[in-house]
Amino acid sequence: LALLQNKNILVLGLGATGLSCARFLTSQHVSFVVNDSRAKPPGVEQLNQINSNVKLISGQWDSNAIANADLIIASPGVDINLPEIAGNRKAGSELIGDVELFCQLSNSNVIAVTGSNGKSTVVSLLAHLAEYCEIDAALAGNIGLPALDVVNQQKDFVILELSSFQLETMTSMQAVAATILNISDDHLDRHQTIENYAQIKHKIFDQSKRRVITREQNLSQPIDQCKTDVSFGLDSPADGHFGIASVSGVRYLCFGATNLVACNQLPIVGKHNELNCLAALALGYCAGWPLDRMVNGLASFEGLDHRCKQVDSGDDIIWVNDSKATNIGATLAAIEGLASSHHKLILIAGGDGKGADFNELKPALAKVDHLVTLGKDGGQIAALKADSIEVATIQEAVSSSRKLANAGDMVLLSPACASIDMFNNYMQRGDMFIEAIRGAS
Ligand code: ADP
Repeated sequence: LALLQNKNILVLGLGATGLSCARFLTSQHVSFVVNDSRAKPPGVEQLNQINSNVKLISGQWDSNAIANADLIIASPGVDINLPEIAGNRKAGSELIGDVELFCQLSNSNVIAVTGSNGKSTVVSLLAHLAEYCEIDAALAGNIGLPALDVVNQQKDFVILELSSFQLETMTSMQAVAATILNISDDHLDRHQTIENYAQIKHKIFDQSKRRVITREQNLSQPIDQCKTDVSFGLDSPADGHFGIASVSGVRYLCFGATNLVACNQLPIVGKHNELNCLAALALGYCAGWPLDRMVNGLASFEGLDHRCKQVDSGDDIIWVNDSKATNIGATLAAIEGLASSHHKLILIAGGDGKGADFNELKPALAKVDHLVTLGKDGGQIAALKADSIEVATIQEAVSSSRKLANAGDMVLLSPACASIDMFNNYMQRGDMFIEAIRGAS
């Protein structure tokens, strides 16, 4: 591949993405160097299996390797704006992510999804609908396989979940359809301002033939609208767009004036998930997939763990694991979707807030009956509601909530924070929540 010939190539980061770069470059018989700032990066053993001749520099970002590189391929977890990286690059060098490299090489039709929340749900639903419609598609990017692992598979469609970190280095995608689901405070520790973060997300629209646009939020809309755009929202839609219609008190997903399916038949709950279903249908529609079949396929989607999922607890309390709510927007959506006059809602929140302003949670906390907080920034959230309880562990959060709940009440773990201050990741946080519930019941 001319793109890779006669270049000093440096792969930054040796996690799952770095390993996929190593596999791909090795398959192309080009040599490269790997650099990771961690003393013991997670992928060392696998790297040796992939290619035992690769030079690995670990323990710091290596100024010489960076200065020597013509092409740097950075993992999304690597902050490319760090002075050690940005400041040491040689003039004329290229810095891209693995997904940009994928886009330069792939002939598949791409459907691309970004947003602060709902990406994994929407792309997984799309992959499910593709399977249901017998369309040949792979799921890659921020979820599923790293993009370079599917580049040689010659799929008809590749459904890409894109984070802002991936979009930051992308210019070559030519998606058949793309969307920004929503934009809320997240990752401001790396992107500084919400404007900067939004600008990076909007790069997805410059790289797509058709744009799927939310009607719910201005910040997620392109400035100029065009005829081929398809929009979605919770209101009733114009012809050719997706929305919600209410017929004798029953809400339906609809396309123009056509009702598609009643919302109470959807397998995933909450208004945010209605939006996710509409976005997935709109993307599939723009990609030329059959709308009728997609609608039939919605019912058999099982949803993803750790996202507003009810826990099989064996007791009479409704426990909901939304550990994936790592930012305020996700927790707002969960409270909005699950608060009900039929039961008390007890919220467990807190963790590492990543610099977000928790005041945005305050109005929604009025719909919460009791608040239990934990973690590094739990105190900041606790301060927003009277009589909240601060605890040290997830087990204590469960036992305190259990005391507050009566039969039929709901306890929602939706932290509005990252988990890294107390857990390996949000999956472990959710699993320990479930264990604590089952262990004590
Ligand atoms: P992502 O891949 O963008 O992190 P997920 O589908 O994994 O999104 O969901 C992350 C969190 O956001 C979960 O807590 C989920 O309940 C919540 N969520 C899902 N869809 C939306 C949406 N459209 N708006 C707000 N929150 C959402």
